[in-house]
Amino acid sequence: MSDNIIQVGASMKPLIEVKNVRKIYRMGEEKIVALDNISLSVAKGEIICLVGASGSGKSTFLNMVAGLEKPSRGEIYIGDIPIHKLNEEKVTLFRQKNIGFIFQSFHLLPMLTALENVSLPLVFQGMERKKRDRMAKEMLEAVGLVGFEKRVPTRMSGGQQQRVGIARALAGRPKIIFADEPTGNLDSATSKEVMGLIVKMVKENNQTLLIVTHDPNIAAYGDRIVTIMDGNILSIENKKVSEAQAEAEDREMHSEINIEKGKDLQ
Ligand code: ADP
Ligand code: MG
Repeated sequence: MSDNIIQVGASMKPLIEVKNVRKIYRMGEEKIVALDNISLSVAKGEIICLVGASGSGKSTFLNMVAGLEKPSRGEIYIGDIPIHKLNEEKVTLFRQKNIGFIFQSFHLLPMLTALENVSLPLVFQGMERKKRDRMAKEMLEAVGLVGFEKRVPTRMSGGQQQRVGIARALAGRPKIIFADEPTGNLDSATSKEVMGLIVKMVKENNQTLLIVTHDPNIAAYGDRIVTIMDGNILSIENKKVSEAQAEAEDREMHSEINIEKGKDLQ
């Protein structure tokens, strides 16, 4: 294996480590402190629910950890990788290999079928056509959408579209899943189904989940509930040290974070 595969060591180091992160946006004369000073460590296999009022900084926090934006100050590590220091190209590769996103408004491409939408991250990973079609089909099956392979998003319900969104986020078997209000556009019964599905799949695949939600029922799925207010962590509620997490820590010895150079990147 090449030297750009980064091992997460056998130590009990957290998978994600956020240290004193601050983010300021400048709007002309105005300074907006989106994140004031946030530190948080997340273990492999944990499910973290981020809650807090609109505008408190939840999305900014996820975007920082995913390397979509650079903090104004502070450090972010995933495994041993300093996300805050990576250049655009490296952070994009890192994201493609290691992070799956689920969005509130699904973000499916309307001209593509369900199967093609799910395949897309696999294209970016440089996977060959046959294999990615097979994997995408398996993912659609896993989210209960057998027979919907050729359907376009506009001909699917919100719940079905979000199932495609989940399949797409998980298709490349990323180590970490970020979900930003994934049930925000769904009715309460569908929200429950979708949330149950996300948690089930994340646990089965031993993945780590950071999920933003307003819904207290949904927050109850978390191992920890982190409340954010005005760009700071107001409180952290420990729900339980789940069995999944304990198992995950055992398995951590064998895991690796992969930032191998992707092929076929345009
Ligand atoms: P939340 O997701 O909790 O609703 P956000 O992280 O979206 O909150 O926003 C936190 C604060 O930062 C808000 O005041 C928001 O207006 C501001 N903000 C977020 N993104 C930007 C941006 N790109 N430019 C300027 N201000 C922003
Ligand atoms: Mg938000």
